Amino acid sequence: MNQPSKILSLTALGQQLRSGAITCRELIESQLAKVQRSNSSINALVSIDPESALAKADAIDRKLQDRQSLGALAGIPIAVKDNLCTRLGVTSCGSRMLKDFRSPYDAHVIEKLHEHDAIVFGKTNLDEFAMGGSTETSIFGPAHNPWDLERTCGGSSGGSAAAVAAGLVPASLGTDTGGSIRQPAAFCGLCGLKPTYGRVSRWGLVSYASSLDVAGVFAHSIQDIALVLQSIAGHDPRDSTCLPHEVPDYTSFVRNFEQIRSTRIGVIRQQIDSPGLDPSIRRSILEAIETYKNLGAQIVDIDMPHSKYCIATYYIIAPCEASSNLARYDGVHYGFRSKRPEASVLDRMIEQTRSEGFGPEVRRRILLGTYALSAGYYDAYYVQALRVRRLIRQDYDEAFAKVDVLLGPTTPNTAFKIGEKINDPIQLYLQDLFTVGANLAGVPAISIPIGHSPEGLPIGMQLQAPPLGEAKLLAIAEAYHQHVDYQPMVPPSFQAPVS
Ligand code: GLN
Repeated sequence: MNQPSKILSLTALGQQLRSGAITCRELIESQLAKVQRSNSSINALVSIDPESALAKADAIDRKLQDRQSLGALAGIPIAVKDNLCTRLGVTSCGSRMLKDFRSPYDAHVIEKLHEHDAIVFGKTNLDEFAMGGSTETSIFGPAHNPWDLERTCGGSSGGSAAAVAAGLVPASLGTDTGGSIRQPAAFCGLCGLKPTYGRVSRWGLVSYASSLDVAGVFAHSIQDIALVLQSIAGHDPRDSTCLPHEVPDYTSFVRNFEQIRSTRIGVIRQQIDSPGLDPSIRRSILEAIETYKNLGAQIVDIDMPHSKYCIATYYIIAPCEASSNLARYDGVHYGFRSKRPEASVLDRMIEQTRSEGFGPEVRRRILLGTYALSAGYYDAYYVQALRVRRLIRQDYDEAFAKVDVLLGPTTPNTAFKIGEKINDPIQLYLQDLFTVGANLAGVPAISIPIGHSPEGLPIGMQLQAPPLGEAKLLAIAEAYHQHVDYQPMVPPSFQAPVS
């Protein structure tokens, strides 16, 4: 078997573009050739517009030649999850319901990418309306894990992860409601950041569960994550939950990993001792803890007594919000409308449209949410879940009074086989055991690669920080990668060099 080869980071590509070592057109042409070669095997990108990418590349090249000032992401191709609205092309959410939907506006994060001169390279595959953990519920079919094509790349932002892991783009955007950036990052050997709720505007992010949704970043290195976060974070008056706080200079904070000596790292006992945790993941996490100890960090055991309720709480709140958010797809305003004869009567049309337009997992969530919100059950389920959510947040507050970050596994297991869990929703929901807490509490969290299982599958470690603690989170993550001299790798089958 070929050994995995090194991959060029976004930061390195940016330097090559600025120094003139490569032109932006050459870069985009070589990435397009890779898409041609590899995308059909991983099904990561679901739409791409080569002409507009090349036109943008030429415009960047002209600016570079004229020595005009350019944004931090100048000329960098970035793929975006297909639940982020783009004026260009379709925004499908992986659903029949929006298969032909063209957004009249760009999402805030897309505007930001343009503002920083990135090239929005294509839209990526996802679980339908971001509901899932394996990118198998997409109308485009499953995305495949570049490390093993028979396995899922996780989800719901699986396409965004696979596109970066296979080297089609150096970074991508995903969204994370309960783990949809961190879990695919762990499965595909990438860094994946879910920012603080409200740090990045949700304007133009198609809503799944509005109190949990946030857009974030996939990349090979923490430096690259910082660079993209820097570009997309910040206040946006169009999202009333978007935070007004100033955006720190994440890119220079990342280099500040020396502060690790005075850091307190909390280890959540419930997670390390979890009986469902794969032994090779446990081993890698314990090794990472040793590494931090060697770096001078203080390790503190943390008890999160309500963590056992995270999954139950999340799977009430998320479907409740989803059932309300998805009520807008009625065949009247936009999107799919049933063509069946009985759909000539309004009520039947709406019913038929929603039955045909949504796939089984989305229908399941709408039913669950509608049930939990119905009169008579509302207090027992939804209100109770909100109360427990408060207690979970309290666990985090108490933990962060004692430590700077929390450390643990991102997922209970490595990437599983396509088809293995799709008919067992509970098994899929349990995949989110370690990730949903950060969404319920609104705190930032990152998954970083820390090794491989005996079968050669990537393993991720999760670090979580207090609200708006991204700078510290990134610095502590970087300290680990610096110490172990982490080198991002391309999976064996996707080895062609970037330039
Ligand atoms: N797997 C979780 C769910 O299905 C998380 C999804 C997400 O973060 N978008 O709800």
